[in-house]
Amino acid sequence: MAAVRKLSENLFMFDLFEQGLRGRSSAYVYTGARKVLVETGSTPCHPYLVAALKTLGLTPADLDYVVVTHVHLDHAGGAGVLAGVAPQATFVAHPRAARHLIDPTKLIAGAKAVYGDDLERFFGQILPVPERQVLIREDGDTLDFGDRVVTFYDTPGHAKHHFSMHDPVLSAVFSGDALGVRYVAEFTGWPFEFVLPSTSPSDFDPKAVEKTVDKLRALAPSVVYHTHFGPSPAETAFAGTLEGVRMFTLLADNAYSADTTWEQLAAALEQRIAAWLRENGHVEPLDIADLGVDIELDAKGLLYYEQHARTRP
Ligand SMILES: [Zn+2]
Repeated sequence: MAAVRKLSENLFMFDLFEQGLRGRSSAYVYTGARKVLVETGSTPCHPYLVAALKTLGLTPADLDYVVVTHVHLDHAGGAGVLAGVAPQATFVAHPRAARHLIDPTKLIAGAKAVYGDDLERFFGQILPVPERQVLIREDGDTLDFGDRVVTFYDTPGHAKHHFSMHDPVLSAVFSGDALGVRYVAEFTGWPFEFVLPSTSPSDFDPKAVEKTVDKLRALAPSVVYHTHFGPSPAETAFAGTLEGVRMFTLLADNAYSADTTWEQLAAALEQRIAAWLRENGHVEPLDIADLGVDIELDAKGLLYYEQHARTRP
């Protein structure tokens, strides 16, 4: 049975078991006047999504809105499959993300470049969402959920096509990957949690992350709902994201030369994160390799940034 956790009146979260992993990705469901899902996960998550909705007495056919923070496959890869069983639902997306939902060809090609032969195994089939089901929300646009009006904000830094959703009733921001990843014990196996940024390719931009943090901080939310994984006190998410981005970028700036490989950056990043955890009092012997895929993606994104995006004096 799907474990569904109540966060507040009419808001629930559950584990999507992204790539079979516990504590990796969460989805959120509003059960009030409008039934709203935030994040679909990838296609292999679909059975967990359906099971969790069932626990709440819902089926995909009950959903009014499906909000996807951005179109990376672990967030919206399953949108097309969901649309097939939720033809009444409106999929709400960033202006730059909508076209990839409607035609995922470029998205699949981009993901193939990152994941290679693992793409199909990790993410399954990636289907389009019919255009008539896609609603674009620009920066500052609102949406009426019947019992509240939420606002969407353009929040680049992790991806240029990323928005975040602010719920003034809950004093909450649904941040996707814009405010980092919350690493929980269920995922790492370590008896503590922490927030680090996701600097995956190919849009990572530290200056944009800082602006995004400033913009969302100005809303003075109490809580941040990460996609990876669950809620953080808002200030923990803001501070963790900023500290991590500065740490990662400094490391990449220092380590980078024209012949640097992502493997070298990943090894340096692994050491830096282990040292940072020790500096924060986590002295247990940690198998940092548990963060493997994230470190690999972060290293590739940092390398891409150094090679293409960074402007050197
Ligand atoms: Zn993600």
